[in-house]
Amino acid sequence: MATIFTKIIRGEIPCFKIAENETHIAFLDINPIAEGHTLVVPKKEIDYVFDLPDDLLGETMVFAKKVAEAIDKSLKPLRTGVIVEGLEVPHAHIHMVPIYHERQNVSLRNKVEVSRGKMEEIAKQISAEVSL
Ligand code: 5GP
Repeated sequence: MATIFTKIIRGEIPCFKIAENETHIAFLDINPIAEGHTLVVPKKEIDYVFDLPDDLLGETMVFAKKVAEAIDKSLKPLRTGVIVEGLEVPHAHIHMVPIYHERQNVSLRNKVEVSRGKMEEIAKQISAEVSL
């Protein structure tokens, strides 16, 4: 069965899209741990990130870098952190987490409330700065 991320990639489930090319997509995490929390996902459906072929893993990191640059420009965090866990969705992905202050709790267990309107606004702000 297709993963939830494959359904998003196919356009069967909506998302707040940040960027997309032939091989990757980035969209806001639906249950963010910070405003602008974004997922970078290779379109090829592989569960464990370290099972990605080397070239695809490299491309995923380069795509993530471009998304981080766009987050940094638009939302101006101290920097953008990354988390790789993959315990919930069996489709490799990288969490891109804007870190706004040094004492921020950067944990996937630390969900924050972000309204739908704010998610839309943030997605527009970040995507406007993406240059692939
Ligand atoms: P992990 O697999 O790394 O533990 O986390 C998966 C992440 O995917 C979670 O942070 C969760 O909020 C996010 N997520 C799960 N389902 C959806 C969805 O349908 N849409 C979006 N945008 N994010 C999702």
